[in-house]
Amino acid sequence: MAEKCNILPNNEGFYGNYGGQFLSENLKEEFKKITESFLKFKDDKGFNSELNYLLKNYAGRPSPVYFAKNLSEKYGCEIYFKREDLNHTGAHKINHSLGEALLAKRMGKTKLIAETGAGQHGVAIATAAALMGLGCDIYMGEIDIQKEKPNVDRMKILGANIISVTSGTKTLKEAVDEAFKAYSKEYETAMYAIGSAVGPHPFPMIIEHFQSVIGREARMQFMEQAGTLPDCIVACVGGGSNAIGLFSGFLEDMEVDIFGVEPLGRGEKTGENAASMTYGKDGIIHGFKCKLLQDEEGNPANAYSVASGLDYPGVGPKHCYLNEIGRAKYVVISDDEAIEAFYELSRTEGIIPALESSHAVAYGIKLAKEKKYQKILVNLSGRGDKDIQFVMSKLG
Ligand SMILES: *Cc1c(COP(=O)(O)O)cnc(C)c1O
Repeated sequence: MAEKCNILPNNEGFYGNYGGQFLSENLKEEFKKITESFLKFKDDKGFNSELNYLLKNYAGRPSPVYFAKNLSEKYGCEIYFKREDLNHTGAHKINHSLGEALLAKRMGKTKLIAETGAGQHGVAIATAAALMGLGCDIYMGEIDIQKEKPNVDRMKILGANIISVTSGTKTLKEAVDEAFKAYSKEYETAMYAIGSAVGPHPFPMIIEHFQSVIGREARMQFMEQAGTLPDCIVACVGGGSNAIGLFSGFLEDMEVDIFGVEPLGRGEKTGENAASMTYGKDGIIHGFKCKLLQDEEGNPANAYSVASGLDYPGVGPKHCYLNEIGRAKYVVISDDEAIEAFYELSRTEGIIPALESSHAVAYGIKLAKEKKYQKILVNLSGRGDKDIQFVMSKLG
């Protein structure tokens, strides 16, 4: 079993039944170039020494693993957090953004094109673009632009162009559609910088590679502190980049149970959640096959979560594969449970987590209450600064 868990995609980009590359002919050629460049540079000494320098001295890695003493005492077990919230720009997204920008630069591209929902990926990409002297076009739904003003302002200060997307629901899904449309006209000079472990091959593989630093560090740090591996690991799943980054370090450790936490939002009805693995059916979105939330006609359904970084109707293909072979288990946490965890971590440990990460925290606490596991490692994918205004205005 262990050797089946940490697979790479096959030549067509499939992990078992999921993934692939559903693209127009002209883009296929370009994606072949991206694949070849990635495979070359991922083992290139110069590329890696530049990336590692930036991860350490610019982004602030390694992020620590923290033993949450107060929370652990409260529940009678050991709860640890991998502190991706301490990274530059406040989340794990800087890991793949630096990697993608560096790859674009090596490929001779002069601009990054990306979509963003809540603006977290947009900020990380705009940051990497500013650092590396690349142009930057960020596509963002009109509604998200109104909702996420601080992040829009950050991107503007960093020198990015924000393109307002007014089609459909005017949120993340349409932003991806429009960004991709623009990219198909500009691919000769621009690189698409996707925001999660999704999209057509090779993007899920590229994102996993750049995020795998989380799992590699966490495994070593945990061993060093606890003297053993964790009994289980937990991460929230939107598209699945922070989760696959953590999981990749433990996939072959069969004694470690793995949990991906999806947003149940307001409930199980279509349109009220973004739990693609739990309620989705096989389908194709944005050029790849995955578990997809669908309406009655089979079109991608509207996804909802209080955490805007999680509200994508699809999910990364490697997660779909890990679910199918039973290596990882995908569970749900509601808006209310996430918000409760947001307050609980703030008040017991003095750490304000992102609402996305609060889903993982909530499930970690749930497991602690069940007393099935002694040592629990939770990925704290980002910090909650961006959510403070929303929480105070909506929830007091
Ligand atoms: C974007 C984001 C997520 C969700 O994205 P994944 O690709 O599923 O990791 C989770 N947490 C934070 C803090 C984010 O900004």
